[in-house]
Amino acid sequence: MMTITYEYEGALYVNLTNRCDCACVFCLRHNGHKGSIYADDLWLDHEPSFQEALDSLMSRDLASYREIVFCGFGEPSYRIDDICALVDAMKEKVPGLPPVRINTNGHGSLIHGRDVAPQLKGRIDVVSISLNGSTPEEYTAVTRPQSGEAGWQAMLDFTREAAKYVPQVVMTIVNKDKTEEDIQHCRELAQSLGAQLRVREYIPD
Ligand code: SF4
Repeated sequence: MMTITYEYEGALYVNLTNRCDCACVFCLRHNGHKGSIYADDLWLDHEPSFQEALDSLMSRDLASYREIVFCGFGEPSYRIDDICALVDAMKEKVPGLPPVRINTNGHGSLIHGRDVAPQLKGRIDVVSISLNGSTPEEYTAVTRPQSGEAGWQAMLDFTREAAKYVPQVVMTIVNKDKTEEDIQHCRELAQSLGAQLRVREYIPD
């Protein structure tokens, strides 16, 4: 059984892909895990089709969740067109749909070779982007993007664009090995792009 949707702390999480253009040093995907603290078997044996994902979503009492979160065991923006279509379908069928969030590495536009931010308008309420470093050097050392430092710039550009279309754009960092100065630098960077910074506690693997 593969897990397309799962519940965690009152939210519904949606897992549509294993693919990612990064290889973060902390990523559970290449540490031999098939699950996480959230759910078992998050490794998808195939990418769910739009219909499979919709069926999984519609089998849930969608209005009862605090939030619906597209994240995944990979980078959800590979499926950005399906995410938008799924949100449209859910909004049509479920009055009072809870807020919808995407957790992303911010490479959606880089991956697709076009600006995907306008598609988020009216569909996505919160975008959460992993900042993972206060400089391009630190970022690429931690996330190891296929595109190298272009990945850093793409992530910043996406954040700035997303802030034009999405009510709440958040950049996240984990406080491990960060000085107050690093965090302040990240905060200023996020604010300069129209985003807020959220500092998360490090959870050991
Ligand atoms: S961006 Fe996310 S899915 Fe991709 S390698 Fe990093 S932690 Fe893993």
